[in-house]
Amino acid sequence: MTVRQWKRIITFVVVALIVSLTVALIIVAVKANKLDNILSENEEIIAFLNDAEDAGTITTEDISQMSKELNAKKGQEKPEYQSKYSKLYVENDFVYEDDAEGAKKVYLTFDDGPSTENTEKILKILDKYDVKATFFVIYHDSDEMDALLKKIADAGHTIGVHTASHNYEKIYSSVDAYLKDFNKLAKHIEKVTGVKPEIYRFPGGSLNSYNGAVYEQIIAEMTRRGYTYYDWDVGSGDASYGTASTNWIANNVINGVSKDKSNVVLMHDTNAKDTTVEALPKIIETLQKKGYKFDKLTKEVKPVVFGYLS
Ligand code: ZN
Repeated sequence: MTVRQWKRIITFVVVALIVSLTVALIIVAVKANKLDNILSENEEIIAFLNDAEDAGTITTEDISQMSKELNAKKGQEKPEYQSKYSKLYVENDFVYEDDAEGAKKVYLTFDDGPSTENTEKILKILDKYDVKATFFVIYHDSDEMDALLKKIADAGHTIGVHTASHNYEKIYSSVDAYLKDFNKLAKHIEKVTGVKPEIYRFPGGSLNSYNGAVYEQIIAEMTRRGYTYYDWDVGSGDASYGTASTNWIANNVINGVSKDKSNVVLMHDTNAKDTTVEALPKIIETLQKKGYKFDKLTKEVKPVVFGYLS
């Protein structure tokens, strides 16, 4: 190699060294500056807390409490759905009464209505025997159905929310999806009947093969909003495959009730449930003769919930 070539190589190495050294120095300077900032911020906080402690306005326990609260807040951000649907709330602060009389009551509940074929027939029978009952309804975009909703409410029965769509996959896909669907029907019921619904029933009951992943959050959220749900402890068997016979339904209810429990009876109000309607007079007459009283569910009635919670 010539002398000139040697010179070039040396110049290149020296320049490269100077450049990398400068870059390194800049990085160190920036980092040191950042560290200074953090340190000075913390010093201010520490100095403030120390002053406050010295002045007796704040104690060590206060500081540890404050830091606990801050950490708790960081760890538990409120789910977004809690701030949605600001009108979806029910006043609910009372203690359920455990009265002996309640044990002789029967609460007939009709799910999935209203129906053009059977709602009016059911209302007529209930009226004839002076019985009040509960209808867990679904949403229909129809004036005819709205008129039936109004008739149920005007007759003094309770209307509860059974979800707008009754679509298991949809409503049980998330708490958000459930709330959205519930809100749609709750608003509609109030608009049509003038009565705000305060109780509800889960399609398929509060625990079913579709909602295992979300039922606890849904119940927690609805309870936080003041709503009460009711499962059932007497099955009429009217939802079984095919058409259940009138006698089968009547006997299921008559033999299913007991003076030792709350007797929330599951029945259905859909166009296909002729035999449910036919069984009603026999059920009411027989149980009234046995001394049972019929009543509607309201939020003051102690909820009947499947046994999984206990
Ligand atoms: Zn249903």
